[in-house]
Amino acid sequence: MANLVTNLAAAVEEHGENTAIGYQGTETSYEEFWGQIGAFATALADRGVGADDRVAIYLPNVPPFLIAFHGTLRAGGVVVPMNPQYKAREIGHLLGDSGATVVVTLADLVPFVRAVQDETSVEHVVSVGGDVDGATAFEDFLEPGDPDILERADDDVAVQPYTSGTTGQPKGVQLTHKNLASNTQSAAELIPDGIRPDDKQLGVLPLFHIYGMTVVMNATLFSGGAFYPMASWDAQEAVSLIEDEELTLMHGVPAMYNDVINQPNAEAFDLSSLRLCGVGGAGIPVEVLRRFEELYEPTVYEGYGLTETSPVTHFNSPIKGRRVGSIGKPVPGVDSRVVDRDFEDVPPVEDGPVDEDEADLDAITGEIVVSGPNVMKGYYGLPDANEEVFTDADGKTWFHTGDLGYRDEDGFFYVVDREKHMIVTGGYNVYPREVEELLFEHEAVADAAVAGIPDERRGETVKAFVVPTPDADVTEAELKEYCLTNLAEYKHPREIEFVEELPRTTTGKVQKFKLREQDTPESEAE
Ligand code: ATP
Repeated sequence: MANLVTNLAAAVEEHGENTAIGYQGTETSYEEFWGQIGAFATALADRGVGADDRVAIYLPNVPPFLIAFHGTLRAGGVVVPMNPQYKAREIGHLLGDSGATVVVTLADLVPFVRAVQDETSVEHVVSVGGDVDGATAFEDFLEPGDPDILERADDDVAVQPYTSGTTGQPKGVQLTHKNLASNTQSAAELIPDGIRPDDKQLGVLPLFHIYGMTVVMNATLFSGGAFYPMASWDAQEAVSLIEDEELTLMHGVPAMYNDVINQPNAEAFDLSSLRLCGVGGAGIPVEVLRRFEELYEPTVYEGYGLTETSPVTHFNSPIKGRRVGSIGKPVPGVDSRVVDRDFEDVPPVEDGPVDEDEADLDAITGEIVVSGPNVMKGYYGLPDANEEVFTDADGKTWFHTGDLGYRDEDGFFYVVDREKHMIVTGGYNVYPREVEELLFEHEAVADAAVAGIPDERRGETVKAFVVPTPDADVTEAELKEYCLTNLAEYKHPREIEFVEELPRTTTGKVQKFKLREQDTPESEAE
């Protein structure tokens, strides 16, 4: 049966007494968890919510997220995950567009739902943390029951997350039961021994985002392992949780690894229980990866993907050998190419990663495209957007990632940067990531981002935003000189600004548009 939640039912059958969720000192077994899921699914069915109906989950990483997620699938519905940092205006679009009839949220967020409810199809507001403002308390919503899993077809939509909207209105990404099942399986299989029933996974990546949802939550729960959700990121708290519970697996975005190694007591942390770490969501600076490995020993494996691809398309597999600086090879079942604007293959380099300052990046780089069972069914109700991101060729449908990269003759892929981040300055292309990697190698740099700032003469000029280490003693002129010594002249940041922190999304990505906006006259800002 195609319903994604069947995989969880199988784990319940096999590992019923194992811990499924560990949260704030309380452990819930698989059997108990399945009972809660059944109660949520029963409550939905009783309110007429079934096949294809949208249920919005507007929660941080708390156990009711996991119950509502799997309960919705069990009832045949479609989960619409929403970032709990969003305010009324932002959720208004998601609720209106998806047609969700139920919203599960925190008591504190109920007013945002109420503010936009009239413009949406929302009929039931379920609140974790009390029956505020006429919403039904989560516990009161549940109804005892042990319903059958509603049968779904491979191609039916299971989850509809939204893009973060950095390029316009957020788009609903339709991910089918098959998309998600295939990717969850890859995520579990690509690590040594797979995910084991005695594994304990840190659940700090936001569950509303595809990385946390598939690679972390589902891959763990479908394998009988224990999942330890954390409602928000705090490096010290995450480290304590790993130490106290002896967690064995961690996934994070690069900013999280960077945060851990920059803690004042970083050298004292005991992370020896971790057998494996994964990183993705953005490129991890090689320096950060090496430092983390040096301090704590577990190997950090990098993966790559997008919401539209459920998410993993490439993985630097510990089983198949890894190459630092690479996103690895396509995962089983996924095909990937690097193509030019005419959709012709860009030839691979002999050996990667190349020395970016010496290689002619423009000559070896193209757009990374992918094809496979994990690629979304399409954006919801947006035929024009679908037209833009899919190309049919060689009997396959290829999805355009919008990322620029190259590959080597051994089949490893390398992301150079996002196409929309590339800086064109005085006719030259500069890939911000190359400059960022160099800055990370400087001992006075704790964090850095590079963006193109509008410039009358050059079109754009390269600007670096740098968070210095606490005891750093470095000037803007010294850092500029360091870049000039190591990079072609046109690539060096003409401006460097020291900042306290970089603006980031909840998923740890630097919001480059904010950096650019800050330096753009209002009339020119995006
Ligand atoms: P939007 O699509 O609205 O801009 P987003 O950036 O949050 O939102 P995601 O689907 O979360 O969308 O992110 C996918 C992007 O993340 C990829 O296209 C790529 O640019 C980046 N990315 C993910 N993993 C890696 C990696 N290992 N190395 C470099 N970039 C990565």
